Amino acid sequence: MNDKINILGINIDKVTINEAVDKIISLENKEGPSKVFTPNSEIIYLAKDDEEFKNVLNSSDINTADGIGVVYASKILNNPISERVAGYDVACKLLPYMNENKKKLFLFGGKPGVAETAKENILKMYPGIDICGTLNGYFDDSKSIVNAINESSADYVFVCLGAPKQEKWIYNNFSSFSKGIFLGIGGSLDVFAGTAKRAPQFFIKLNIEWLYRLLKTPSRIGRMMALPKFALCVLKSKRGNK
Ligand code: UDP
Repeated sequence: MNDKINILGINIDKVTINEAVDKIISLENKEGPSKVFTPNSEIIYLAKDDEEFKNVLNSSDINTADGIGVVYASKILNNPISERVAGYDVACKLLPYMNENKKKLFLFGGKPGVAETAKENILKMYPGIDICGTLNGYFDDSKSIVNAINESSADYVFVCLGAPKQEKWIYNNFSSFSKGIFLGIGGSLDVFAGTAKRAPQFFIKLNIEWLYRLLKTPSRIGRMMALPKFALCVLKSKRGNK
């Protein structure tokens, strides 16, 4: 069985959330740094006609299907991914492992103060994690950030700058890192800090978390219009493959 599916030119790993977490942890045995991205349909749609961004996404060690749109696309292409693997959920599953194994975690992104509050909240639940650095995501120069991450010897780095900024940042600075598993996981630090809320379970279970986010922030409508366009492109790509 193929362990990846190509959706509009982007390779997505066909993994459940638990398989994704195991795969991420196994990257610790790899020489040098690693990249984990969690593209949703909006991001895949953005990358479809952008060779450079497509290369960025396809350079990762793991790309998980963050969003029900990507899961449906895999079904349309008759190569189903069994479940949605959202970045925040991956992070939540990694934390107990990091806690037990005293891993070093660096939190990078969000408005000033967000990473520090996220740190406090994470440590309340998982005091065994060594949160070895926090930096906000509003900066002019990446050099000092790269230095801080290198000096921290982080095992894991949560890079939360929103997409596509975080994927491009990880890609562009990748050769400067000697180690670390870099995860591009969007607004996750806001959720850990309590400055943003995850949708209630009701919305998550019914696969309509996107509707909750739209109701909360109606200005997202422009971004969300990518979803029907994405679905149409996937249908067209399927017809083209026949
Ligand atoms: N952000 C940042 N630097 C920037 C732009 C955004 O750190 O230059 C942060 C922003 O504060 C927020 C996150 O990136 O915490 C983006 O969250 P959003 O929910 O929009 O991202 P998504 O998960 O939808 O990609």
